[in-house]
Amino acid sequence: MQLRFVGCGDAFGSGGRYNTCFHVTGEAINFLIDCGASSLPALKRNGINRENIDLVLVTHFHGDHFGGLPFLLLDAQFTRRTRPLTLAGPEGIERRLEQVMEALFENSSKRERRFDLQIVTLKPETTASLGAVKVTPFPVVHGDSGGPFLGYRIEAEGRVIAYTGDTEWNEALVPLGRDADLFISECYFYDRQVKNHLNLKTLETHLPEIRPKRLILTHMGEDMLAKLGTLSVETAADGMLVEI
Ligand SMILES: [Zn+2]
Ligand SMILES: [Zn+2]
Repeated sequence: MQLRFVGCGDAFGSGGRYNTCFHVTGEAINFLIDCGASSLPALKRNGINRENIDLVLVTHFHGDHFGGLPFLLLDAQFTRRTRPLTLAGPEGIERRLEQVMEALFENSSKRERRFDLQIVTLKPETTASLGAVKVTPFPVVHGDSGGPFLGYRIEAEGRVIAYTGDTEWNEALVPLGRDADLFISECYFYDRQVKNHLNLKTLETHLPEIRPKRLILTHMGEDMLAKLGTLSVETAADGMLVEI
């Protein structure tokens, strides 16, 4: 199984990075985790065939994680996609998708599609099987607009990928990430404590409880990016490919 960081940036393009979008592929799986506003150009830049993507898992409804869906869906329509596609995310995903599509491309949510689009609502701490992918969502803490906010523990092809989504530290991150083969954690700041986001120093104090086999930091702000090259932890870069 492989994961490519198609985009690992924050909402504001810090470091010139694309918004969050990870592409996971294996023998029987092909899916995206999050699809931020800039994800379609980022997918194209990486030469990723969108037709083969079966599933998009969305962690929350902020534009840098969710805002790429109208572009992805219209691109699928215009490139005559026929393969079914599943979108899965927090409560309200269907309504939020319609709203963002109408805001960006009027009437686009009502157009008939050649492909079957299935929308699945994921419930916290309830495992869902989506094709060959098993997803357990955990509620995370990321403010009061753009939610509900989920982090995902994803099992596929005998491996576990855990992704915090955007969140401040909360105890749900322990079962979410425990012993994961790959734990992807947002890390907006180095040591600054702010609401709604994690910093590296806080995360480090909890790593002995989480015990991930591999940790990669994503969603870094300018403060973290300025320290790249001096950190003892692995950090994501746009286009980076990881074997799991
Ligand atoms: Zn974000
Ligand atoms: Zn967010």
